[in-house]
Amino acid sequence: METRNLIAGRWTDISSSGSLEVVDPASDKVIARVPMCGASEALSALNSAYEFQPEWEATPPAQRAAVLHATAKLLVARKDALARIITQECGKPLAEAAGEVQYSAEYFLCAANEIQALNEMEVALDRPGVRGVVRHRAVGVCAAITPWNFPLAMLARKIAPALAAGCTQLAKPAEETPLSAFALAEILLECGLPPQCLQVLTGDAKSIATTWLMDGRVRKLSFTGSTETGRLLLRQCAQEIVRCSMELGGHAAFIILADADLQLAVQGALQAKFRNAGQTCICPNRFLVHENIASEFTARVAVAAAQLKIAPGMEADSKIGPLIHDAAVEKVRAHVADALARGGKLVCGGRTKEIPDRPDRFYEPTVIANCDPSMLCFEEETFGPVIPIMSVSSEREAIEVANSSPFGLAGYVFGGNDKTTLAVAQQLQCGVIGVNEAVPSNARAPFGGVKWSGFGREGGVWGLMEYVTTQYLAVRSLDK
Ligand code: NAP
Repeated sequence: METRNLIAGRWTDISSSGSLEVVDPASDKVIARVPMCGASEALSALNSAYEFQPEWEATPPAQRAAVLHATAKLLVARKDALARIITQECGKPLAEAAGEVQYSAEYFLCAANEIQALNEMEVALDRPGVRGVVRHRAVGVCAAITPWNFPLAMLARKIAPALAAGCTQLAKPAEETPLSAFALAEILLECGLPPQCLQVLTGDAKSIATTWLMDGRVRKLSFTGSTETGRLLLRQCAQEIVRCSMELGGHAAFIILADADLQLAVQGALQAKFRNAGQTCICPNRFLVHENIASEFTARVAVAAAQLKIAPGMEADSKIGPLIHDAAVEKVRAHVADALARGGKLVCGGRTKEIPDRPDRFYEPTVIANCDPSMLCFEEETFGPVIPIMSVSSEREAIEVANSSPFGLAGYVFGGNDKTTLAVAQQLQCGVIGVNEAVPSNARAPFGGVKWSGFGREGGVWGLMEYVTTQYLAVRSLDK
């Protein structure tokens, strides 16, 4: 398992300020030490990426795509080993981690296909003898800063289209989960990526980001993480007018209409809510259920939630692993306590489960009925396995409550009639919506938010377009 940084084409553990510990959240054991880099290493990485940029951009798209195709294949071939790395550093159950590897591979496949389909276009001009030509060029050196909850996939979504487009890439993974990033870099190099194309650094996030964003040579930042950090980075990007994609926090509503298929809704709720113990940006946080079916949905979802196996992710059949760190547990506790203090009714869960010799970080799947928008859990994402349920009297009320949040990443609508269900879905102010579907994210489709959830899209041709600039040439040909 690689634990060094990839800078200027070489794996190195030289850093200006020591090392960082990587800890397994399910055991508190230190599983690795990685370099603690700062401004000087960030500058070396940038120099190298900038130097190699023209060569990579000039590499034919088919050759770039071949590296990405091979990477997708190798990711799948090494799925089990990679899944173990993900589970060790971020805690999610192994089966989910394997799903993340597959999902990451699909981004490489998709970017490889999209770049080969991206052709020059002609625009019909109303000027005789002049041709309009539209082409796409690589944006230039790109920076990626990613969170811990999908340590492989969040990087894959950025690195794959950036490399496909002909950009060199600087990457700073979250301090909790750098090992998946190193493993991905190793695979890319094995598949023929020229080493200077990708630089992976761990360390002081603020110094690294400031060095990259204030330099003028980084032309694009793709950030996934909290809205608070996104705001800070946007301010820095303003200085050198760095192009940005911002994949920020979510606060999804999960609307269940009066005529919904309850079994499908319960299954969907479990699937969408409890992935990664509720720590995904598209996990539903506000369940808005029609009053006619609210008590039945509540009872059924609570019975099903209470059966989910809570165990370290490495154990077979684990469905709920640990939360990432103690601060995450404290946030869930605070949200649950606030909801109960404001009249919420605890239906199941509501505490951590004790597991011998394990840290107190395994939060039970929790269902709270009688919730309302005054509660903390309706204001911001809980990032834990909690289902807060509010009953609503109409579709209009559900839409109003859903849209009252400043966040707008994902939403879900479950209903028995396609026309009405779609009509409700289309009124939601968010970028990704599951309509009787709990897993809307797909590498071929655009993923991203509106409002405080950010802007820019990842996946499909939309993801690729974030890494190209459109160049227009008005060409008067003098050739005979
Ligand atoms: P975070 O605290 O914002 O951290 C994300 C990344 O930003 C990490 O690499 C972190 O580095 C870095 N960072 C932190 N402070 C920084 C600074 N001042 N300057 C530059 N970089 C800085 O978010 P998180 O808690 O890890 O992730 C959870 C959040 O991500 C949730 O809000 C979730 O909804 C969101 N998310 C969104 C999406 C999406 O697609 N929209 C997907 C997944 C997650 P260090 O780790 O080294 O501090």
